[in-house]
Amino acid sequence: MHKKLFIPGPVEVRPEVLEQMARPLIGHRGKEASELQRRISNNLKKLFYTESEILLSTSSGSGLMEGAIRSCTLKKAAVFSSGAFGDRWYEMALNNNVPADKFEVEWGKGIKAEDVEKALSTGNYDLITITHNETSTGLMNNLEDISKVVKRYPEVVFCVDTVSSAGGTKIEVDKLGIDICITSSQKALGLPPGLAVCTFSNKAKERAEKVPFRGTYLDLLALYKYIKKKDYQYPSTPSISHMFALDYELNYIVNEEGIENRFERHIEMANIVRAWAKKYFDIFPEEGYWSNTVTNITNTRGIDISALNKELGTRGFQISNGYGKLKDKTFRIAHMADCTVDEINELLTNINDILGFE
Ligand SMILES: *Cc1c(COP(=O)(O)O)cnc(C)c1O
Repeated sequence: MHKKLFIPGPVEVRPEVLEQMARPLIGHRGKEASELQRRISNNLKKLFYTESEILLSTSSGSGLMEGAIRSCTLKKAAVFSSGAFGDRWYEMALNNNVPADKFEVEWGKGIKAEDVEKALSTGNYDLITITHNETSTGLMNNLEDISKVVKRYPEVVFCVDTVSSAGGTKIEVDKLGIDICITSSQKALGLPPGLAVCTFSNKAKERAEKVPFRGTYLDLLALYKYIKKKDYQYPSTPSISHMFALDYELNYIVNEEGIENRFERHIEMANIVRAWAKKYFDIFPEEGYWSNTVTNITNTRGIDISALNKELGTRGFQISNGYGKLKDKTFRIAHMADCTVDEINELLTNINDILGFE
């Protein structure tokens, strides 16, 4: 039996979107490919509220995270980490010989604007990375507060990992002054894994022009220059099948569901899961930082999470155990992409039934 995915990526993909992946291919050097890519970019600009150029990468989101920190750090990167994905960005810097310092907060705690101010005021950094939605802890950092600080440092390139939030919650890239905003296909956008997208500001471009060794495949400046020169075509063969699916899904988001309605639906689903979690368990991250796309629930009752998931599996559902060191201490229910309020209620009804809750 297929298990409907309530895990924070990959997510359940609508059959109509999957069908797009099975369409006959087109050449990646033709006019049709340019038009496809231009349409995708225009809709992504709406979703990200930006005038910045959009870059696509046939890789998962990690590819663009690595590309961003390598292509745009000249002096040193300040990497803020509130969990596993923040840590990953720091490792990428080290592995690419990019100078970086890591600023960590305890798991479940949000990144505070004061800490960002303290780091940037040293004058040591010309790039900062923030994980918007820390999927490992179910925490959503406050980009508005952080952006107020970052804006006071015009030499700093602002990179944000919105892999598990973009498409599920409002992120106004230009208003927040974000230079590179990254996401993957398999989370709130509701596509299969294998494609990543990011915004790329003029400031990011000007910085990359000064950075000598940017790699090749994930050199963001090379991608930018190529699409500018070749009418939105890419230097190497992109996953055209993903592009069909993304084009289809973005058209659905922008013209059918409506961007604002989509964000509203995510908040509605989050509220249902939070109320349930509060009633029977507790919510892991500190209040005020709860994610709109995934809820990390503290296992206050000491239930056997693997057994719960196994039983859910026989009924056609799958949720996530806690991440890394939080395994069995927490469990996660994702409420993102094209998941509906009815599906969330159906999942919770089944969990109640299995655990014997009234
Ligand atoms: C899933 C995830 C990533 C990694 O993305 P991939 O597409 O798997 O490379 C990075 N950051 C966050 C916050 C994520 O949730």
